[in-house]
Amino acid sequence: MLGSMGRFGTAVTLECAIRPPLARIWMVWLPLVLTLPAAGYAAYAVAHPRAQLWGPSRWQLDGPPDQIALTFDDGPSNETPRFLEALDELGVKATFFACGANVERCPSVARAIVEAGHALGNHTFSHPCLPLCSRAQVLEEVFSTQDAIGTATGRTVKLFRPPYGLRSPVLATALPAAGLTSVHWTVIGNDWKWDAGRIARRVLGRVRGRGIVCLHDGHATRPHTDRSESLEALKQIVPRLRERGHRFVRVPGWEAEA
Ligand SMILES: [Zn+2]
Repeated sequence: MLGSMGRFGTAVTLECAIRPPLARIWMVWLPLVLTLPAAGYAAYAVAHPRAQLWGPSRWQLDGPPDQIALTFDDGPSNETPRFLEALDELGVKATFFACGANVERCPSVARAIVEAGHALGNHTFSHPCLPLCSRAQVLEEVFSTQDAIGTATGRTVKLFRPPYGLRSPVLATALPAAGLTSVHWTVIGNDWKWDAGRIARRVLGRVRGRGIVCLHDGHATRPHTDRSESLEALKQIVPRLRERGHRFVRVPGWEAEA
């Protein structure tokens, strides 16, 4: 009996000892190998400006190659009038993606954007992370912002930019229902964390004809913000791009219904 158990134990030990190390490695890594690409693809679909898996989103223009669109997110804010003044002096028409909460707080600034001839778009009401929102929350964010913009400006806007550029499957169905087209960007200035020189270098280094540039005239739904670096970067970017032969347009499809 003892001998038999001894032989049995020896056999088990040998079986473990001779099991190919590669097989054991794959037992651990195979699930990761199978799930990581799926997780990576999901992350791409949610976050990459050029991803189109969850509905179309424009990340560059379709028109002539000399065109560039400047866009500003998170307004209207206490800083927006300074951007409107600078854009007027520069002779540039731009596209502003506004949060509904900001529009309700600063309706006269929202009207000033429209009256200056700039395009206005929907950037949700409270600037949430949409992939973490329920279907009802996504719909509320989209439609309440349409209502806020309509009340302030008398217009129904046609363009939408998701906060942080993050999509969700719900958004893909909500936007067509609201008559909205999604817009991402070719280059984002990282202007919420960098100084003007670095913002301008990033934009000028990466943007090409048909590019859509994303900067900020506000900071989510904060009542007060300082966008001096973004404003200074704007004043550096526009003349340099004009020297390269570019002209500035609003994102096509912006034409709001009165
Ligand atoms: Zn934003």
